[in-house]
Amino acid sequence: MTWIMLICVIIGLLFIGRVIQSEDEKSQLSQLHQTTELWAESFSIRLNADLDRLGQLNNSLPPNLGFAENMALIAQQARELMQQRAEILEINYLDSRNRVISTFASPHPFGNITSTVGQQYRRSANAIVRTKRTGSSSFSEPYSLPIEGSPFIDLVSPALIGGERYLQISRLSIWSLLRQATQNRQNSSFRISILYEDKPIIAASTDSRRQSISYKIPLEPLPAGFELQVSSYAQGLITQNTLFWVISALGIFLIVALLGLIRFNWRQNSTETALRAESALRRTIADSQLSGLQVTDRNGRIVYTNKTFTDLLGIGSNDHLIGQLPPYSYWPKGDAGFRLMELFETIRRGQMTTTSYEFHPMRPDGSTFSAYLHISPMITMEGTHLGWLWTLTDISEIRQAQERVTAAHERFTRVLESMQDAISVVDPQSNVLLFSNSVYDSLFGDDSSGHLQAHMELINEKGEEKVKAANDISTDIYLEKLDRWFALHERTITWTDRTEVRLQILSDITERRKNENLLVEQQARSELNSRLVTMGEMASSLAHELNQPLSAISNYAYVVGSMMKAAGVPEEHEMFYSVSRIKAQAQRAAGIIQRIRAFTKRSEPKMESIPVINLVKEVMELANIQARRHNAKVQYFIAPDVSNVWCDEIMIEQVLLNLIKNGIEASLGIEGQKPEVSLTIYSDINHHVVFEVADNGCGIDDEHKAQLFDPFFTTKSTGMGMGLNICRTIVELHHGRLAISDNIGRGTIFTLTLPSEKKETG
Ligand code: ADP
Repeated sequence: MTWIMLICVIIGLLFIGRVIQSEDEKSQLSQLHQTTELWAESFSIRLNADLDRLGQLNNSLPPNLGFAENMALIAQQARELMQQRAEILEINYLDSRNRVISTFASPHPFGNITSTVGQQYRRSANAIVRTKRTGSSSFSEPYSLPIEGSPFIDLVSPALIGGERYLQISRLSIWSLLRQATQNRQNSSFRISILYEDKPIIAASTDSRRQSISYKIPLEPLPAGFELQVSSYAQGLITQNTLFWVISALGIFLIVALLGLIRFNWRQNSTETALRAESALRRTIADSQLSGLQVTDRNGRIVYTNKTFTDLLGIGSNDHLIGQLPPYSYWPKGDAGFRLMELFETIRRGQMTTTSYEFHPMRPDGSTFSAYLHISPMITMEGTHLGWLWTLTDISEIRQAQERVTAAHERFTRVLESMQDAISVVDPQSNVLLFSNSVYDSLFGDDSSGHLQAHMELINEKGEEKVKAANDISTDIYLEKLDRWFALHERTITWTDRTEVRLQILSDITERRKNENLLVEQQARSELNSRLVTMGEMASSLAHELNQPLSAISNYAYVVGSMMKAAGVPEEHEMFYSVSRIKAQAQRAAGIIQRIRAFTKRSEPKMESIPVINLVKEVMELANIQARRHNAKVQYFIAPDVSNVWCDEIMIEQVLLNLIKNGIEASLGIEGQKPEVSLTIYSDINHHVVFEVADNGCGIDDEHKAQLFDPFFTTKSTGMGMGLNICRTIVELHHGRLAISDNIGRGTIFTLTLPSEKKETG
């Protein structure tokens, strides 16, 4: 279009130029004609006036004057005339034989005498002949002289002076005439020449400028052949026609403007093409976005939505949305919608720049979905705030996934929390606790110390190499700090960040252990019981078996006594004492057996208030037998204020005897010392009777001390390991105590504490 306009303008301009040029030529031509005619006219007026004035020179002469007087008059008038008319340069008077009789030169600087008085006039012969023949003035042919004012022409006129015929020949400067005629020529754009018979006699200096048109016109009253030719120059291009140039300038301006426009259009087109491409690209990008985009003006009026946006809302096109103001049709009704409105108002007032909000947009069919809304301002590079960009992202799936994850996590946590075990995960590199359940936290707190401690116990138990090599290892450990037993299970697992971490499960097995121990104990006890029962049975059958020989011994002793009496052995004889001891010991043995039977039958002890000394004496008697056999020394000390003991005499004697026997046996075989056992009896502050049995024996290791009272514990090759066990049972039956301590120097002290005599019974 612009190109067509440009071409039209150029054609128009050329046409206008052409028109202007032809108009210009026309006006130039008419001006040329006018000017030429004007100049030709003024030339002829001037020349006619000259002719008149020259004619008057001859005709105004008063009659009756002599030739000389006439000539003087003419001379005077001629000078005056030439004074006024610069083109008349010389006036000659010739006689009938063409001899110069008078000659007058113009006072003008160009004035010059070219002929000599008395001589034949040499120029204008034809004109002279013509004038003579016709009797009227005629012009000569033009001629040139090497003087100022050339070319010249002679005017030959008849002159009647004093009745005589003469010829008046005036030399006129054509150049001067022309100059006079064209004196007021303002326009230098004309070139003036005078032609004679088509040859220039006066030609303006050659002008390099292009000559365009010329016009020639005969010069009256000069004879035919003289023509004034005026040529018009093409003036300087600029000056030729202002209108043309104004129009040309305008045209050029227009062309330049059009070219500018074309260039602008071209640029605009290419920019538009680029923009269109970019906008198409942007639209494609916008439409292929996973988020819905909505653009609004500053007041929230919707001006654009992408395809995803309408797709999300389940509507075919955005026609219905464009132009909407908040609250939009897809906003939820009620409180949620109100909150959105408030939110937008806050943003619009500039109290918040960008914001994100989760809500449930409503589709036309009433269904909703979880969406994430982000509002951000759209600001140009110049800082103008154009409006808002609303980004809507469907997060239903994310929400569902999150809910699933949360539910899974909750299930997982609930399972872990409901477990009785302490579960912990630790990064083995940094020893940082990565996970722990509440059981772990309640046991060890929220750091990894418990985990690490258990791990150390595992290493102690299994050895570092084995723990390192194993991916999955378990053992029972005891944590001293908590005083509890745990079944430890440790394994290496891959953590959420793909690093290898250590999972530890600690199950508290203290109760189980206790039960197990209890079971073992129970088993031991039932075993013991069965052994005791067996022993009891053995003892009762032994007692039964021994009862016969013992009563036989007793009877025989009685018989020996009677026989000795009968034989007259004096009563003071030692033999009676021995026999009585045999009888007593046999009875005692029977008593012991009886007690064992009773004991194994778990019969109650026969409690009596026994004086300590009685007890001691009985015990010492038997102990000494032992002492003698082993070459040991047994002694006793009784504090003076010791009260009676409330006990079963035989049982306590059995206990004390066993303690002394053990003391002697422990002190045997120690080089350079005699076994010594001392029995010390005193009352403590609670008025209990304390029996201390101290020896200088080998002593007892701490680890053995707890085991001493266990049934069948013995360090002796021939020992049965029941002694101390029975002692403890007896002591417990008496509500007493049996304690072990180390003797000063060496050996052991067994301390038996028994209640003193019961007052109410005593
Ligand atoms: P037995 O004498 O048959 O071994 P006991 O129950 O009397 O059974 O004793 C158990 C163990 O206690 C003994 O084997 C012995 O090692 C230790 N014992 C008892 N009394 C002493 C003591 N006075 N000094 C050192 N060890 C003792």
